[in-house]
Amino acid sequence: MSDPVREAEAATEVIADVVVDVVVDVVVDVVVDVVVVGFGCAGGAAALEARRAGASVVVLERASGAGGSSAQSGGELYLGGGTAVQQALGFDDDADNMLAFLRAALGPHADEEKLRLYCDGSVEHFAWFCDLGIEFEKSLYDAPSWMPPTTDGLMWLGENAWPYDELARPVPRGHRPATGGFGGWLVMDRLVAACDAAGVVTETDTRVLSLVVESGRVAGVRARRFGEDVTYRARRGVVVTTGGFADNADLLAAHAPDLLGHGVVSDGGDDGSGILMAQAVGAAVRRMSVVEVAYTALPALACRGMLVNARGERFINEDVYPGLFSHAALHEPGPCWVVVDAQALEEVDEADLWGTVPSYAAETIEELEADLGMPVGSLARTLAGYNDGALAGGDPLFRKNARWMRVLEGPFAAIDPRIGFHNPTHRAAPGATGFAGFTLGGLHTTVDGEVLSLDGAAIPGLYAAGRASAGMHGHGYISGTSLGDGTFFGRRAGRSAARPGA
Ligand SMILES: Cc1cc2nc3c(=O)[nH]c(=O)nc-3n(C[C@H](O)[C@H](O)[C@H](O)COP(=O)(O)OP(=O)(O)OC[C@H]3O[C@@H](n4cnc5c(N)ncnc54)[C@H](O)[C@@H]3O)c2cc1C
Repeated sequence: MSDPVREAEAATEVIADVVVDVVVDVVVDVVVDVVVVGFGCAGGAAALEARRAGASVVVLERASGAGGSSAQSGGELYLGGGTAVQQALGFDDDADNMLAFLRAALGPHADEEKLRLYCDGSVEHFAWFCDLGIEFEKSLYDAPSWMPPTTDGLMWLGENAWPYDELARPVPRGHRPATGGFGGWLVMDRLVAACDAAGVVTETDTRVLSLVVESGRVAGVRARRFGEDVTYRARRGVVVTTGGFADNADLLAAHAPDLLGHGVVSDGGDDGSGILMAQAVGAAVRRMSVVEVAYTALPALACRGMLVNARGERFINEDVYPGLFSHAALHEPGPCWVVVDAQALEEVDEADLWGTVPSYAAETIEELEADLGMPVGSLARTLAGYNDGALAGGDPLFRKNARWMRVLEGPFAAIDPRIGFHNPTHRAAPGATGFAGFTLGGLHTTVDGEVLSLDGAAIPGLYAAGRASAGMHGHGYISGTSLGDGTFFGRRAGRSAARPGA
């Protein structure tokens, strides 16, 4: 294999008939087989596989180092079908069972073809992470959580909550690198090391501005580094892995207004630049309105109490994957509150409380209802129904698992998710909603990462993966499926882009 950059140094040539930017001649500074734009999890996976397939590869990263949102993430990886961790813990899973869950949880309208491949390939994909040097402890965190405070290698992500426990055999699939807390840095650290070892060349501080098209084929990119223009020719393909567009208010307003006015779950750079530059050469987008949303309500407390809207009504079983109750809360009359009793607060370990402090405490539910400005009798009625269900051994409305159903008794407390976690002021910032999220829609791709044009044909030379593309998701989201499908389909995109004559 040739060294991409050294070879490139010698190359100064002209690409004629450029149609983008209305430029006729472009001086090329660097020539490689594959150019990857953006070094998050999808870019790293694409670059590694393209290189392993024999291509010379350069990754262009706007920041001063690799990582993107991926490095700041929790590192939860949604994997199953019988991984070594699942097997060691005695969980009986298979690809069909995983598919049955994900089809429902990422739906309605999850991408069936991508889902099928993802589930069929999940055990192998788990092994790919292990080969990168990522370790997973063979232990289970057995309670709802955004992020367990332990190093347990496996966690539930709603598989054992109704209705999913009836749609598929409940097994946990949230795989966690053995770091404790947020593990995205570890995933990226190992991926970067593997890319370096394989001979992938990374050029940081390099912002890609546009794609270059030659005779109907994406033949390279134009970039800027420290004020200088740099042009890269890709002999085989360009892979766009620039992340989503949650930081771009104009794009949110146009496509995903659900997130407008809320917080953003990103590294601050999800401006949709890759999506826009691909659209400029005729790429189609898909599912641009689909978003992940997180509400800063603590799953450990929510499942032990009641999540209620501003009318004092419950609207979901509180033991579901927290992103699902977040999504539901977003569309409820707000603000929503977590209502618990003293026992619930005592049961949760300090580390699991994430600095949560109740905003209101009251001896009776009627007092709490008044403090929260709810209609007279509303919260009291909800509590009475809840407690009746608990006494009868179940949740008549939403079928919360009996494990979490208990008669709630005063004194009561209400937690305001607008305050957020670990907030020493215990006050909501002006305008805070308690919601934050990122986008899941993007470039329309095949399962091999080919970017499709508006007429449905693959655009020659152009590939995409990660949040720059529309992945497996329909309307729903489960933690670990973003790093999961970003790397899984990033690998496929990298291999496709590396194919000679593709
Ligand atoms: C706090 C937090 C926790 C999360 N937890 C999880 C989790 O546990 N599990 C999970 O699956 N997901 C999680 N997510 C979501 C997940 O991290 C992202 O959706 C995912 O990492 C996106 O990967 P990506 O490769 O598409 O984009 P990124 O990782 O964002 O990488 C894109 C890269 O492209 C670069 N770039 C952008 N534009 C250009 C340009 N024009 N030129 C050059 N470079 C460019 C960016 O600088 C960036 O480095 C979390 C996110 C956050 C922020």
